[in-house]
Amino acid sequence: MAATSRGTTPVPPESRPRLTVLSGPSGVGKSTVVAHMRKEHPEVWLSVSATTRKPRPGERHGVQYFFVSDEEMDKLIANGELLEWAEFAGNRYGTPRGAVLQRLEAGEPVLLEIDLQGARLVRESMPEAQLVFLAPPSWEELVRRLTGRGTEPPEVIERRLAAAKIELAAESEFDITLVNTSVEDVARELLVLMDVV
Ligand code: ADP
Ligand code: 5GP
Repeated sequence: MAATSRGTTPVPPESRPRLTVLSGPSGVGKSTVVAHMRKEHPEVWLSVSATTRKPRPGERHGVQYFFVSDEEMDKLIANGELLEWAEFAGNRYGTPRGAVLQRLEAGEPVLLEIDLQGARLVRESMPEAQLVFLAPPSWEELVRRLTGRGTEPPEVIERRLAAAKIELAAESEFDITLVNTSVEDVARELLVLMDVV
């Protein structure tokens, strides 16, 4: 029987694009790669997380993050509105569940840019997700990028570098590693992995 309905017919699970999770140490270039990729392929939907971190200069509510208070985060967690959440370097971050599920249901490619703990939680709750690890060309280059970004004071950089050591040690838990030497190359490889090109 021919399918004639229009609009909101759900895409059958077997033909849905998989959820893709991009993780890697702070400063490795995740946001840079994702921004480059979405400039050419705006159809790739990136989940906007909620966070208790304060905005950096230029960051806007609803664009990079939903910037929430501790109390608001408590509520999101208590109401089961987050697909996953984690504490990272002194702040909490979480993925709003509803929007992700809606996009997957509609058959759109979905990307989460989250930390190692979040990636592990997604693997548990959605084993079909593909986990991509973004690695730096070297430890020295990671330190250079994180410091050179100039967005965090020295003590926050120290916390993030301590977390980076743990994240780098977990690389083998991921399905694939991309080394961020060239933003353009990594963005292209990610698009291929997501079946967008
Ligand atoms: P993350 O989102 O992983 O924390 P960012 O995207 O903020 O990292 O990148 C951290 C810094 O590294 C930024 O200053 C960015 O311009 C720089 N950067 C990102 N990718 C590269 C690359 N391939 N080569 C050189 N510098 C890079
Ligand atoms: P930043 O403060 O640099 O924007 O992000 C710090 C870390 O939190 C990064 O590793 C980033 O990927 C991660 N992160 C951002 N959003 C989420 C989220 O919703 N859940 C989890 N678990 N981590 C997140």
